[in-house]
Amino acid sequence: MLGKTIGKHAVVIGAGMAGLAAAGALANYFERVIVLERDRLPSQAVPRPGTPQSRHLHALLPGGHRALTDLFPHFERDLAEAGSVLLRMPRDFRVEIPRIGQLPSRDFGWFFYGASRPLVELTTRRQVERLPNLTMRPGCRALEITATPDGGMITGVICEDADGRQETLAADLVVDASGRAAPTLTLLRSFGQPVPDEIVIGVDLHYTTTTFAIPEDAPTDWRGIATHPHAPERSRAGYMLPAEGRRWVVTLAGRLGERPPADLDGFMDYARRLETQTIYDAIKHAERQGGFERYAFPASAWRRFDRLGAFPRGLLPIGDSICRFNPVHGQGMSVAAQEARLLKQLLKSRATKADPLAGLALAFFSESLPLVEAPWNMSAIPDLVYPETRGERPPDFESRLQHNAALLRAAIRDPAVHRLMAEVQQLLKPPSVLQDPAVERLVQLELSQMSAEQV
Ligand SMILES: Cc1cc2nc3c(=O)[nH]c(=O)nc-3n(C[C@H](O)[C@H](O)[C@H](O)COP(=O)(O)OP(=O)(O)OC[C@H]3O[C@@H](n4cnc5c(N)ncnc54)[C@H](O)[C@@H]3O)c2cc1C
Repeated sequence: MLGKTIGKHAVVIGAGMAGLAAAGALANYFERVIVLERDRLPSQAVPRPGTPQSRHLHALLPGGHRALTDLFPHFERDLAEAGSVLLRMPRDFRVEIPRIGQLPSRDFGWFFYGASRPLVELTTRRQVERLPNLTMRPGCRALEITATPDGGMITGVICEDADGRQETLAADLVVDASGRAAPTLTLLRSFGQPVPDEIVIGVDLHYTTTTFAIPEDAPTDWRGIATHPHAPERSRAGYMLPAEGRRWVVTLAGRLGERPPADLDGFMDYARRLETQTIYDAIKHAERQGGFERYAFPASAWRRFDRLGAFPRGLLPIGDSICRFNPVHGQGMSVAAQEARLLKQLLKSRATKADPLAGLALAFFSESLPLVEAPWNMSAIPDLVYPETRGERPPDFESRLQHNAALLRAAIRDPAVHRLMAEVQQLLKPPSVLQDPAVERLVQLELSQMSAEQV
């Protein structure tokens, strides 16, 4: 049922996670929403060319799960019915940290679903396809965003279908969920408007992923695992999550020239030489199901749209078009979903304005800043530990590192701190909750113990 509409047509470029979530946010406020996707969209949960990352392990953090459930009331039910695996958090997800061991296996009463990225996307797409005023245009590439002669207001999108037929779609709002913001940046440049600065952290990360059937004698004390590297000396890491079809998706990662091999012997050897043998022991007799897939991720990149003073009316980038996070921290889909939920809230609050679209983008950039900044900071600090990582270290980098280490030690001792830390990491709460005086007291205690241990 439509609420107060604020425009006739909205066009979304890209049917990845950001585009789908955004389409869910827009449907109530536009008479018609069209989603353009250059790929043909599969009817099964299988990878597709436009999202090559979908062959690799994807964790949907509880904060992102909640945002998708707020946008699509049947999302959780449908994901569960499609065979995803419920993990109680953090009890069922073992986190192994060098020099520390593993985080205590506590149960804070929230959940996480293990599913392949194609299944998460297909489940979201099915929600979107149910919206009565939505048209999905697979096999249709956006060529160009069009605007008024002064570039101040968006008028539509020129697109081309698989047979090369071009069409101009009129739009009051165009959401750029293309992943790289190419349509947005091209438009800004063509009108001589400023493009956003880009903050880049060069991580030179390499992934190799395969899947195994979960054996009958699989461990029962955990269902998913992250084995972190002994940074900065080593960068070998392993991640494993259960997914639909009773299988484990296993991703091995490396930096600093470490490339996890893409053949069975090499892969197993790399797994055996992680910081612990937990992953190796689990998969050594398991039946491998898939081939080996590789992915190179050179750099995280954050386009600072929030620093622009003006932006065309009726244009909005979202998801990876704003920020591509280092994937080992599992944040991109969740941030995209949270941004889409924010977009829906903004549309609702602006619906009664005389011109709801005027200033929408700047309001969105400003209000979504904390949604991006928190996960960016959480991943940037551990990434910058490696001296080879390219990027600007904050002036208080060393003290932030020490503070993070002290917080981790406090979390191991104290369930309440552990809970808060996990809620922040899983994007359920903002980092400001960790400034609680009781938490800070425990962190300071750990910091003094750490300096005593160094003497
Ligand atoms: C190796 C790897 C692992 C990852 N692991 C995780 C994880 O564990 N957890 C997590 O939350 N995130 C993870 N991510 C990030 C996550 O995949 C993205 O952040 C998330 O999917 C949001 O992306 P998006 O929709 O903005 O862009 P994309 O996923 O890039 O989707 C963009 C879509 O737009 C389409 N498109 C592009 N240009 C056009 C055009 N001109 N016309 C029409 N269509 C177009 C593309 O075909 C594509 O479908 C990972 C990323 C990588 C690279």
